[in-house]
Amino acid sequence: MLPLRHAASHPVLPFRWPAASALAALLLAGCTAKPVAQLPATPAKAAITRVAPEATAEQRAIFASCLASLRPSALAAGISSDSYARHTEDLQPDVSVLGHLDRQPEFTLPIWDYLSGLVDEERVELGRTRLAEHGETLARISQRFGVPAEAVVAVWGVESNFGQTTGTYPLLQSLGTLSCMGRRQPFFRGEFLATLRILQAGDVAPERLIGSWAGAFGQTQFMPTTYERLAIDFDGDGRRDLVDSTPDALASTANFLKQARWQSGLPWGVEVRLPQGFVSAGESRRNKRSLADWTARGVQRVDGTPLIPAATSTPATLAADTPAGLLLPAGINGPAFLVTRNFDAFYSYNAAESYGLAIAHLSDRLRGEAAFVTAWPTDDPGLSRVERRELQTLLLQRGHDIGEVDGRLGERSRAAIRIEQEKLGQPATGRGGLKILVALRGE
Ligand code: CA
Repeated sequence: MLPLRHAASHPVLPFRWPAASALAALLLAGCTAKPVAQLPATPAKAAITRVAPEATAEQRAIFASCLASLRPSALAAGISSDSYARHTEDLQPDVSVLGHLDRQPEFTLPIWDYLSGLVDEERVELGRTRLAEHGETLARISQRFGVPAEAVVAVWGVESNFGQTTGTYPLLQSLGTLSCMGRRQPFFRGEFLATLRILQAGDVAPERLIGSWAGAFGQTQFMPTTYERLAIDFDGDGRRDLVDSTPDALASTANFLKQARWQSGLPWGVEVRLPQGFVSAGESRRNKRSLADWTARGVQRVDGTPLIPAATSTPATLAADTPAGLLLPAGINGPAFLVTRNFDAFYSYNAAESYGLAIAHLSDRLRGEAAFVTAWPTDDPGLSRVERRELQTLLLQRGHDIGEVDGRLGERSRAAIRIEQEKLGQPATGRGGLKILVALRGE
């Protein structure tokens, strides 16, 4: 899933494509941040749906004509005439989604900002609570799909903050609009027809089928075609419900990872230390070499121990012939990782290496492992959501109109940060890092 999934509720962050989609090929490069919300104790049950801006008469006419023209495709795709009529007769376009489709990120979030918001103490703690709450279900999921509970819960946490932030766009309306207007209509038509089939099958009620502007929905943000392909009815009620059934959502995510060639028992990767003078040109996540090769090139675990554990008790752990690629998310001077095919499974969920690393790291933290050892190559580290809220509070105290304190540094927060940075003689980037926070605290 790319830079933009929960764009509606997180206007601050760069654009992200839908999750778990077959869209990887369409993805834009670059890391984008993912929205993060406050953490209520239990998943919200009430769907909050945005109200679309009024379309012009001309837009409505174009939309109605387009829907009529899509009808034969819908019938050919297995949607009954009655069902198509029922779900489209009152449908109005939401032209605001077209802005998201064309929006360029105003800036690319540094990887350390991206990760510090997604993998912070708050999310680790809530994730551990969720692991315990759903322990029995997760144990069964792990047994059936061969994917560890922490990996599944990490995806859940990054995708929707454990079911809290699942989007506000009615899927039929947003996908209908994207099927009839703007770029990539053929792609979105496939998703629109899949949405109609889901409704026809009765797995999810129309008023619950709400998601990102681009159509990712449910607790683990599946696109409709991904849902059709991979969703699982794990609670056994006869419906595959990724919105209101946490067991269904978690099992479906495990199934996604399994289908993405997850290898049971294999770590996603390991933080490493490169030898002096190491030449990283040509190396990448995709360019995999055996751990024996990496060892021969002088690569060690970050703590200085060998890549390959001396005694391998389980067959699928890291071994001399395990293929791994080198990931340098911030270049040669930042943290370095050797990543296996299980990292690629995370990557396939959203087609961004920054995303894959967030999931991987959160899954490690949920298992009790520590933060990365190597520091990011910056003198101005990123902020957790607690720190972002503190920064926003300090900006409010200085009279800036930044809206509510929500831990998301949006346009208004960034404008206020720019003003304060100028006053302090700092470069006016609008970025909320540790430097500006410390400076504002100290005044
Ligand atoms: Ca179910």
